Amino acid sequence: MALENAQAPLHVDTVLVASGRPQRTPGASVNVPVELTSTYAADGPVNYARVANPTWNAFESALGELEGGGALVHASGMGAISAALSLAAPGRTVVAPDQTYNGTGDLLLAFEQAGGTVVRLHASDTEGFLSALVGADLLWLESPTNPLMDVIDLERVLARSRELGVTSVVDNTLPTPLLSRPLALGADVVVHSVTKYLSGHSDVVLGATVVADTERGRALGERLQRHRTLHGAIAGPLEVYLALRGLRTLAVRFERACANATVLAERLAGHPAVGRVRYPGAGAMIAIEVGDDAAAAERLCAATRLWLHSTSLGGVESQLERRRRHPSEPHAVPVNLVRLSVGIEHVEDLWSDLEQALDAV
Ligand SMILES: *Cc1c(COP(=O)(O)O)cnc(C)c1O
Repeated sequence: MALENAQAPLHVDTVLVASGRPQRTPGASVNVPVELTSTYAADGPVNYARVANPTWNAFESALGELEGGGALVHASGMGAISAALSLAAPGRTVVAPDQTYNGTGDLLLAFEQAGGTVVRLHASDTEGFLSALVGADLLWLESPTNPLMDVIDLERVLARSRELGVTSVVDNTLPTPLLSRPLALGADVVVHSVTKYLSGHSDVVLGATVVADTERGRALGERLQRHRTLHGAIAGPLEVYLALRGLRTLAVRFERACANATVLAERLAGHPAVGRVRYPGAGAMIAIEVGDDAAAAERLCAATRLWLHSTSLGGVESQLERRRRHPSEPHAVPVNLVRLSVGIEHVEDLWSDLEQALDAV
């Protein structure tokens, strides 16, 4: 549907519901179909399904409208991140937070092993970012960081990056386009793990890249699309259909999850078994330090009945995990840190379960 024909700019909640739909011709279906095909009859706009698929197009047009750019769906968040990191020329310099999503951290290590340089800065070191950008090839940002929940001054760092012509990429998985729209702040590329809030039901693994709707953005978009086509990390149409179905309810899911998180962060801060509570004041992720050691944090994760002890985040169901159980997790993350992904259940049920589990720690 051509939303630009609507009378006034639509609110984001409406865009979520109305975008990426088939044309309203008589008898048309309300949803795009799951297009299961590997090839297309010759002489059309696309000839092979590793390049494009109509079910992808619908999701891409919806996400593009949300972020304010042109979107591509990838096989996973890591597929999207690999494509975006390929924008840094080999052997050149990438500037990044000293603590990122661990898969991104591992790819940055591989970039260094291949002869590149990575300048890592603490999220709060805005001046450090501003000076490190001089001579850099690519800026990588995620805010809040996962799982330390540190916040970066995106506005200042992205403005400087744009001034210097440094390609900037922002992993927008945690805030979602409802809390942060990096392209509007001057970012060149946004990446998502669609696995998380965008799809929201813990039933798919998918990723996306979105580029600004500018000449520079479109040129980067062509490189990302070429990477997707040639490296072949493409999404299955059924998964993309499910992600678009999940995206329809993002605003209501996220509103509830964020409201629950605000209540829980405050109560957790008052519980004697909880040390530091890291909660940026918005979003639905909280990180807490539990007891004195890893064992206390593990006891908490083993004692919940409603909260699901699992990795991942952003689903309708609340999840928790001690992050340092993963050997690749940066050592800046305390051993007793438990990351909570707050879901959309009733907040009192979530709190009673956490409270009984914390009392058992
Ligand atoms: C999960 C996650 C990823 C990786 O995405 P996958 O879909 O698991 O490949 C990247 N960045 C962030 C912030 C994540 O939470």
